[in-house]
Amino acid sequence: DRIISANLMMEDQAVELSLRPRYLAEYIGQSRVKENLKIYIEAAKMRGEALDHVLLYGPPGLGKTTLANIIANELGVNLRTTSGPAIERPGDLAALLTNLQDGDVLFIDEIHRLNRSVEEVLYPAMEDSALDIMIGKGPSARSVRLDLPPFTLIGATTRAGLLSAPLRDRFGVVSRLEFYTVDELTFIVSRGADILGIEILGDAAEEIALRGRGTPRIANRLLKRVRDYAQVRGDGIITPEIAKESLNMLQVDPCGLDQIDHKMLEAMIHSFRGGPVGLDTIAATIGEEGQTIEDVYEPYLLQLGFLQRTPRGRVVTPKAYSHLGIPMPEDLKG
Ligand code: ADP
Repeated sequence: DRIISANLMMEDQAVELSLRPRYLAEYIGQSRVKENLKIYIEAAKMRGEALDHVLLYGPPGLGKTTLANIIANELGVNLRTTSGPAIERPGDLAALLTNLQDGDVLFIDEIHRLNRSVEEVLYPAMEDSALDIMIGKGPSARSVRLDLPPFTLIGATTRAGLLSAPLRDRFGVVSRLEFYTVDELTFIVSRGADILGIEILGDAAEEIALRGRGTPRIANRLLKRVRDYAQVRGDGIITPEIAKESLNMLQVDPCGLDQIDHKMLEAMIHSFRGGPVGLDTIAATIGEEGQTIEDVYEPYLLQLGFLQRTPRGRVVTPKAYSHLGIPMPEDLKG
């Protein structure tokens, strides 16, 4: 597994539980999303109603699950957590829905992976807090409507465009999470070190933040790896030098790119004159799935301005040539 993968790994689980902010005030960054949610939560509480359904989208590791937990905490209700692929049949979802209490939050991660028949159960549930159940078979079959308690559905997905239009339209609040700035990530690393009882000095938190790909999950993972290095090679204290040494050893460059990012950009430059190259071709070149590249790796390269998307494929930018130290052919400039 890539150390800079934003997907949840086994090694992250225990640490993530202890580092997960519990209230909006502890949730760093995403100020626009936070401000909006604060108002909606307050209003829902004042009216004594369930919060409108919320769709959170953005690359993995940016804090969607964390935010769902926070929303439930702030509302003072229970949170039930599941994921798109875990709900196989309409009956599975019906069971979840009928077990909710008034105002509860149901969190569905990877909501774009719900199958069609399950999704259709969700429409009346979201719209009218109702469950339509078919009784009997053949000509005598009829549909019975069951009332559900008012609830809030929070859906999470990597890209809003992956959802079907009827599902997307049923969310009253649609929020996109952005990559974190280096300052925000520095703050998250310092906070994490504090909670885990790790001593971290000077610019070391920033060193880690710079290579965290704008993603708290990755920054926290790097922090843990650097701590291990500091314990074995030093006296357990993370100094800027220790941070730099260990991050270099992990082969994560100062922009947060690893060997595979390098390989991908270099292959695009050397074999395809920097592009445009189609996603499938890139995927085949580096042996990753196209979908993974599009959802997990590419967004950060786009954010850095190292890649551009064009209708004909991906193009490597002058900024990336310069970062890699590869001269850009004259005829490609300008
Ligand atoms: P996602 O659901 O988007 O994949 P998570 O919510 O699981 O991401 O976040 C991964 C980890 O990153 C969390 O366990 C938490 O420790 C940390 N994290 C995420 N967002 C924040 C934030 N805004 N402030 C501090 N830590 C955060």
